Amino acid sequence: MLIPEEKIAEIIAASDILDVVSEAVILKKSGKNFFGLCPFHSEKSPSFSVNPDKQIFHCFGCSAGGNVLSFVMKYHGISFPEAARMLARKYNIVIDTREMNPQQRKALHVRESLFRLNKRVMQVYTNFLNDPLNGRLARQYLERRGTSKQIIEQFGLGYAPDAWDAVVNFLKEEKVTKGVALGSGLVLEKKQKNGFYDRFRSRLMFPIFDINMQVAGFGGRVMDDGMPKYMNSPETIVYSKSRILYGLHAAKQACRRQGQVFIVEGYFDFLSLYQHGIENCVASLGTALTQEHVRVLKGYAATMILVFDSDDAGIKAAKRSIDVFVQEGIDTRILVLPDNNDPDSYVMAHGRDAFLGLADKAKTVMQFLLQLALDTHGNSVEGRIKILDEMKQHLAMVQDYAVRSIYIRLLSETLNIDEKAVLEKVKETFEKQANRQVRTPLIPNNEDLSSDILESDPREIQILSMMLHWPELIPVAVEKKVVPSFYSKTLQQLGCLIIDSGADRQNIVGAVMARVETDQDRKLIASMAMEDYTGVQDPVQTFVTLANRIIKIKDKTDRVIVSELTKVKEGCDVDVIKLLKLKQQQIQQLHNS
Ligand code: ZN
Repeated sequence: MLIPEEKIAEIIAASDILDVVSEAVILKKSGKNFFGLCPFHSEKSPSFSVNPDKQIFHCFGCSAGGNVLSFVMKYHGISFPEAARMLARKYNIVIDTREMNPQQRKALHVRESLFRLNKRVMQVYTNFLNDPLNGRLARQYLERRGTSKQIIEQFGLGYAPDAWDAVVNFLKEEKVTKGVALGSGLVLEKKQKNGFYDRFRSRLMFPIFDINMQVAGFGGRVMDDGMPKYMNSPETIVYSKSRILYGLHAAKQACRRQGQVFIVEGYFDFLSLYQHGIENCVASLGTALTQEHVRVLKGYAATMILVFDSDDAGIKAAKRSIDVFVQEGIDTRILVLPDNNDPDSYVMAHGRDAFLGLADKAKTVMQFLLQLALDTHGNSVEGRIKILDEMKQHLAMVQDYAVRSIYIRLLSETLNIDEKAVLEKVKETFEKQANRQVRTPLIPNNEDLSSDILESDPREIQILSMMLHWPELIPVAVEKKVVPSFYSKTLQQLGCLIIDSGADRQNIVGAVMARVETDQDRKLIASMAMEDYTGVQDPVQTFVTLANRIIKIKDKTDRVIVSELTKVKEGCDVDVIKLLKLKQQQIQQLHNS
């Protein structure tokens, strides 16, 4: 970590965790903390909390936690120096790249080169579109589709001409290195390895922006019947398909405002809705929606409306996507457009109000699936049994008990089958699935904790937690020498850190956070700092009692070991393994008493 400590401290001091997390999670105030749906695990009720006073976050569900830097790292899946730079940019702090080690500098350099290159190539494509000769057909095409000048400009649309070397030549002129050129996915190497050629040719080009408005990749659409109709950049260092949603950079405010987001498939679906003032919209670009997509989106809107064409492909796509939303516990609606329309053709033909009118009547996921099953299998006895078979799979994925029982009643009423029988079927499937699939754990992942913490006395964590909550207890801890009496070496080290940071009483959590080195320790500190002590009347007395207890155990353990060791020394016939086992048992008993 070669960004100097003072620089990191400056970045942390300038950042506001509430501000940063709010960009990704919808937060509501409750007491001193803010709560929201965790972006790191699936949940229906908020257990993800942010404490602005202490500048930390902690999830009571999956035990993710840390300071503003840990959040940025985890949320964007980037390294420590990258997170530091991201925040530095946001808060106008200058970091000298000489302050990084060669490897970090290189990784950062590659990322930034790719973003820079993409931005300039976007300009190249735009120039081709505006070129009187080269871009004529593409401009006419856009005009025919009714895409407005403003939209073309705002979303940086362009044109890749019918040539094998338009971008290749540009990269040559710009002296872009081979590594960056290939890494961008914009060009491919010839089979004979004697040069490169353009990936996108004779296509309308759509730059794909990430949430920070940087160009992460491109999509290209043919303007005739050529195949493939759509082609996107491959996955690159800066373009993660399982994360990026087209248009979110421009839609996020509207999504927050409306509390809902329309999810469509294609570029033109998105652009046409946006052009008609329906700005709370993103496009999946034909890739299957992932859990990550949904987790990103739920930071902007609680309700998600999947919009599909009414053709078979559209229905199939709807069915494929639904489970991700159901598992994440999102309030999801399905809007199937009538008469083989897609969102683009529908809103162009009927306008904004008609589209929103349909959206108001969008079905819930279960209503949609049930209707679909009824249409497929019919209402005969055999048909209804098939429907029940199909629906129980979906129902078993609903995590929320109350929601599940509502659907079970709906299903039993629709099929005219006894509710108990339906429930029985769903339960069977639910149990089977529970055995088969590994679910996101709802209890803190114990594998994360080092074994010496798991075996240690819970009072040790409580001691540290109280010191973080009431820094005035730190001198008491020092005087009693309680930390050196800890069983867990990890907690001992953290205890020493807290004591060393004790001078900064106003911002003890921040000071400790800045000094811990592993993500694991940051998580621990965050969870300890989030402990709620509202009920504690006399902290000093409570603290002293806890400390005395730990010290007593330590003394006793020491005495046991000394006496056993004396036996060994005196030549008694003591099996060392047995001795260690005995010692462990005794310690365990002490801890549990
Ligand atoms: Zn969580």
